[in-house]
Amino acid sequence: MIKTKKKGLLIVLSGPSGVGKDTVSDAVLKENPNLWKSISMTTRSPRENEVEGKDYYFVSEEEFQKRIQEDKFLEYATFNHHFYGTPKDKVAEKLNEGKDVILVIEIQGALQIKERIKQALFIFLLPPSMDVLKKRLTKRNTDSAYAIDERFKTAYQEINELPKYHYVIVNDTVEAASKKLNAILISERCRVDRIEELYLDTIEEKVHEKLVDNKKLENSEIKIDL
Ligand code: 5GP
Repeated sequence: MIKTKKKGLLIVLSGPSGVGKDTVSDAVLKENPNLWKSISMTTRSPRENEVEGKDYYFVSEEEFQKRIQEDKFLEYATFNHHFYGTPKDKVAEKLNEGKDVILVIEIQGALQIKERIKQALFIFLLPPSMDVLKKRLTKRNTDSAYAIDERFKTAYQEINELPKYHYVIVNDTVEAASKKLNAILISERCRVDRIEELYLDTIEEKVHEKLVDNKKLENSEIKIDL
């Protein structure tokens, strides 16, 4: 009896580096075949375990600048001396197909999306404490001590932007955090403003229409015994 909007939801998941955004979003992706995670482009070098086209598209700074000039990014930002950006085309394509799209990005980029796309959903992932965040950053063993320190300092600035988001999730455990993210997605899909059309075609539904519409009820031939 309802037809929901054909266009998918755009979800932006942010939070400080090392908080576990990718782990939590990957857990949610496994349970949501209709959810698609955007693959970003970056000028930073690949880490040992990273795969081109799966984790990122790794490009030179020259290539990235060229794409900025060609207006190929939905948003882009610099994070600890490297460029990161969301390719525009694929996101638009997936949303138009009716897929929900999740962007796992830092805060400056998220705020650009907020300016451009009013109906996007903004979720912030917080660590249980700054101490835990520092430990997670160090344990990842993917960055130099200097880079870890930079990322940790940036985390404080990023957390200040929390009030600009719609939802906050504390990443105590991946299981609990992904359950919460899933619950948010389920609720968002039930929002009234996601309904494109409410249609009535059976007799019972037409009776209901008369019940909810006072004017129609006054002129109605249908008698309702209370
Ligand atoms: P990392 O170097 O740890 O992979 O990423 C550094 C930060 O950049 C993380 O907070 C990550 O979420 C963010 N990031 C990844 N891709 C993008 C993107 O396309 N745009 C923006 N603005 N940030 C991104």
